[in-house]
Amino acid sequence: MSVESVNAGPVVWLTACIHGDEVTGMVTIQEVFKRIQRQRLLRGSVYAFPLMNPIGFDTASRYITLSREDLNKSFPGSENGSLAERIADRILGTIKGTKPSLVVDLHNDWMKSIPYTVVDIDPGPGGKKAYEQAKAIAQKTGFLVVAETEQSAKSLSYTLLRDNIPALTLELGESYVVNEQNVKYGLNAIEGILRYLGMVEAADELPHYEIPETLKGKTLSFSSEPASSGSGIIRFSGAPGDIVKRGQVVAKIYNAFGKLLDTIRCSNDGVILGHSDSSVAFPGAPVMAFGII
Ligand SMILES: [Zn+2]
Repeated sequence: MSVESVNAGPVVWLTACIHGDEVTGMVTIQEVFKRIQRQRLLRGSVYAFPLMNPIGFDTASRYITLSREDLNKSFPGSENGSLAERIADRILGTIKGTKPSLVVDLHNDWMKSIPYTVVDIDPGPGGKKAYEQAKAIAQKTGFLVVAETEQSAKSLSYTLLRDNIPALTLELGESYVVNEQNVKYGLNAIEGILRYLGMVEAADELPHYEIPETLKGKTLSFSSEPASSGSGIIRFSGAPGDIVKRGQVVAKIYNAFGKLLDTIRCSNDGVILGHSDSSVAFPGAPVMAFGII
């Protein structure tokens, strides 16, 4: 998909569904294009790959089902490589061929999760400029901004950053089902970026995700600690979006007869980004994700 202005300007890419079960981004991109066609693009171009993993999408799977590969762990890819590497090579080659100013990759998270913006880890000296730009642009999405603490070196966004191309990830709530509210929040987030880049004019107010005043302009760090120490059933007492304090109880794990086995407490002050899709606990299983202040 593409919209090109007659005036030169930034080249922005929107990409979605690299994980086949993460479907809200595809619809968000459709809505962005409807809106910029109505509003007129003042300058630059917007391009999109709304469905990067059609094989995964058709089977509601995160992976490229035929080869069981994670496309977002297959970049930069290779012309003669595995199925995922060949797809990655085509995607990256096409994007880089347009000399992009920014790539925004849309993902989905646990079924119970809030929308947020992810900034990758520092890509090192070669990607310094892009990294600084990505951090600045992240604040224009209006979402909580969360910095990765671990990184898949072969993800699309990190591969771009290392090549000094600004890239960001938006997590738009749950996988599998299009969440219409998160489509609107995502549309607002992308419009915030396009406005900042001078590509669209401020239009009518879109619904936006309310983030706490105290967290505006801050970058949180991602944590999925503490994990479960054993097996059992999880009962959550904290909910996605809750502001939490260090030591606060957010979940308890019981055995089948109701005996308390483990209490999950926040390791730091922060906000709950989401909790696991299942109440089945096992040793080392992530229970909750936090944005740590
Ligand atoms: Zn994903």
